[in-house]
Amino acid sequence: MARTPLVAGNWKMNLDHLEAIALVQQLVYHLERSDFEAVEVAVLPPFTDLRSIQTLIEGDRLPIALGAQDTHWEDAGAFTGEISPGMLARLHCRYVLAGHSERRALFGETDEIVNRKLQAILRHGMVPILCVGETLEEREAGRADEVVVGQLEGGLAAVTAEQAGDLVVAYEPVWAIGTGRTALPEDADAMCGLVRRTLAERFGQGIADGARVLYGGSVKPANAKALLTQPEVDGALVGGASISAEDFAVICRFPRL
Ligand code: PEP
Repeated sequence: MARTPLVAGNWKMNLDHLEAIALVQQLVYHLERSDFEAVEVAVLPPFTDLRSIQTLIEGDRLPIALGAQDTHWEDAGAFTGEISPGMLARLHCRYVLAGHSERRALFGETDEIVNRKLQAILRHGMVPILCVGETLEEREAGRADEVVVGQLEGGLAAVTAEQAGDLVVAYEPVWAIGTGRTALPEDADAMCGLVRRTLAERFGQGIADGARVLYGGSVKPANAKALLTQPEVDGALVGGASISAEDFAVICRFPRL
């Protein structure tokens, strides 16, 4: 099955709303219509930028999908400082990350919390990008497969095949995120293949064949082609390099590199 690759830029806690507008304007300047036809491009700005970027994308009819980096799982209530999935859906967010390793490591998100968030994202008609990946210790102990399968099972608990139709999973080895180290292309391919086989066991081959499995972890212009042209890799979740319009544009153009 032909899957349209997705390249999503996770800006993390970078760029205020004015810088955000400038970055998206530069990005579209660097990309051509044919690039957007070959690859779906998404940006995941901080919450305070979302409304500005939504207005820019819709006002200028830019072929860029909008996404958020996190959500609470409840629809409303006494959760000071949190953002609800309904608020994100109203801003026309298409994607929302769930289970990014920084949320797991720095904010104590367990598989159970990730699952609640993922279900909330689905409930509001948005597409979760479920992030999974092992630490260096887990890889060195030969436990990478077990950890990734466990995170998939935990994150996707109680999700039905019908809900999983558009699912995106990002395989992001923790030791490669923000470190400049990347997985070998063949290892990225093998782990994305493992993700797909796990989805097939859980939801059936049809859903697994349609799901996009991304690689994330220090994707840069220099390594994008080797990593993203692997058969099981359907694009990238890009952190650091996504806050440079030039670098992110090169990564988005990986099929042409
Ligand atoms: C990320 O934040 O998901 C990520 C992959 O970051 P980086 O590209 O900086 O490693």
